[in-house]
Amino acid sequence: MKADTADKVIHYTGTELHTKGWQQEAALRMLMNNLHPDVAEHPDKLVVYGGIGKAARNWESFDAIVRSLKELENDETLLVQSGKPVAIFKSHTDAPRVLIANSNIVPAYANWDTFHELDKKGLMMYGQMTAGSWIYIGSQGIVQGTYETFAELGKQHFGGSLKGTITLTAGLGGMGGAQPLSVTMAGGVCIGIEVDETRIDRRIETRYTDVKTDSLDEAIRLAEEAKAEGKALSIGLLGNAADILPEMIARGFNPDVLTDQTSAHDPLNGYIPSGMSLEEAAELRDSNPEEYVKRSKASMATHVAAMIDMMDKGAVTFDYGNNIRQVAKDEGVERAFDFPGFVPAYIRPQFCEGKGPFRWVALSGNPEDIRKTDEVILREFSYNTHLCNWIKMAQEKIQFQGLPARICWLGYGERARFGKIINDMVASGELSAPIVIGRDHLDSGSVASPNRETEAMKDGSDVVSDWPILNAMINAVGGATWVSVHHGGGVGMGYSQHAGMVIVADGTKEAEARLERVLTTDPGMGIARHVDAGYDLAIQTAKEKGVNIPMMEG
Ligand code: NAD
Repeated sequence: MKADTADKVIHYTGTELHTKGWQQEAALRMLMNNLHPDVAEHPDKLVVYGGIGKAARNWESFDAIVRSLKELENDETLLVQSGKPVAIFKSHTDAPRVLIANSNIVPAYANWDTFHELDKKGLMMYGQMTAGSWIYIGSQGIVQGTYETFAELGKQHFGGSLKGTITLTAGLGGMGGAQPLSVTMAGGVCIGIEVDETRIDRRIETRYTDVKTDSLDEAIRLAEEAKAEGKALSIGLLGNAADILPEMIARGFNPDVLTDQTSAHDPLNGYIPSGMSLEEAAELRDSNPEEYVKRSKASMATHVAAMIDMMDKGAVTFDYGNNIRQVAKDEGVERAFDFPGFVPAYIRPQFCEGKGPFRWVALSGNPEDIRKTDEVILREFSYNTHLCNWIKMAQEKIQFQGLPARICWLGYGERARFGKIINDMVASGELSAPIVIGRDHLDSGSVASPNRETEAMKDGSDVVSDWPILNAMINAVGGATWVSVHHGGGVGMGYSQHAGMVIVADGTKEAEARLERVLTTDPGMGIARHVDAGYDLAIQTAKEKGVNIPMMEG
């Protein structure tokens, strides 16, 4: 990080407040945490993850947000428009302290060209999902979801685990970096192709990847040896996926499992065209963005065509939420959608139960606080062996990045129960400071994304985006500490709308009531959304849990 940037991003920990209350303090610490050098991919550019997903529009806006949060009263609400603070209004103590809208564009204009034009004029930023809504917690944030996906794939296709299989993927960035660790956690071998060596090094430093090589021969040899021995191993292979996949096909190598997590959702900033060094790519991006996008999209088409070839030869292939199929389809790859997205293939049943990536962060900065909350999960949810195994594995294998945090997939009822326990622990002094509770926007009732979370909905409602908006409104009414509505996260401009929610457990009775409301309505929206689409599991869950859905059938 540059010196001037490092001066601005201060990583507050401990119990001393720098604001007028814990809710404002939580927003301040989480904004700073999103830009922690161990958390963000390019903190000097305010870029947190996912291509150009930013925490604030520019440094002036960042300074103004920090100033506003420090001055914000306990009955006021700060409004943030695409990373810029635009107003502070009197509200009330139970209202959100911050409301955020990022990257929203009127639908007929919602594409990257319009976005880049607005971005250049200083009118907008790309908020991704948790970047602009200040609840990104580094690669850990996605590890369990990625693990759940690979574990479910192992169950469906390989008799229970990925032992004795090779998974091929690309992109070891902020989120994609979770893939190698998740595959090895599920017992398999992973080759992760990554064009930027510094990204591989970072995954090795944090033990998300085991070894690195720039030789395709060596990567294949290491992978096949480990597969034969039934050993888990992850290999970071330096190279460009659009070049390496066809090369693998030429050599007769076929993986057992195949996916991709390059930032294909953003052809200008997220994907490196075939045959280019990083420096050449950066130069072309600046000098001739149109030519860059053309080459980038053509490379994605080559990449997807190779994936289809490998799928035809037997690889279990799925899209991992970066919209690469859509780009390839637009480029003329007719069979681009022949392989499914990960949500319909592996995740939707969890969404039907209101389950999704729930996370919490110790504002104290004290890892002991997270260890104590881990113990609560093991005690209170001991009936869920899968979840308990996850917590034990996470304790052993996952290094904290920035403020200590934990993630696990909890559903309706469980989230509210856990929130109350945490609040009680803060109240009793068992935890050294308040805890902030939030989630990814990739959750059961908070996103409309027809090539990802809402792909192939049973009733054909994939593109209906009323749901995330209702989700944001009910969470704001319930008293979440900050609520956000974004566009374009995960899959790029025009392809998604989604909402975020973060709430502070500060140990007060008021927080207890807010937690009960918000941690019920938030996963409740997931159940309602899937009941409405006609999923039996959601209907059964709604009945069992007593979710009141006026027109529920069955
Ligand atoms: P990132 O921008 O931090 O990382 C992308 C990585 O891909 C970079 O390291 C880049 O060097 C590499 N890359 C780009 N082009 C390449 C090429 N041609 N060959 C090899 N490597 C290449 O992004 P991220 O946060 O890791 O997210 C990756 C993608 O996954 C995004 O599109 C994001 O929206 C999506 N995503 C999916 C999920 C999910 O659960 N499915 C969750 C979060 C993000």
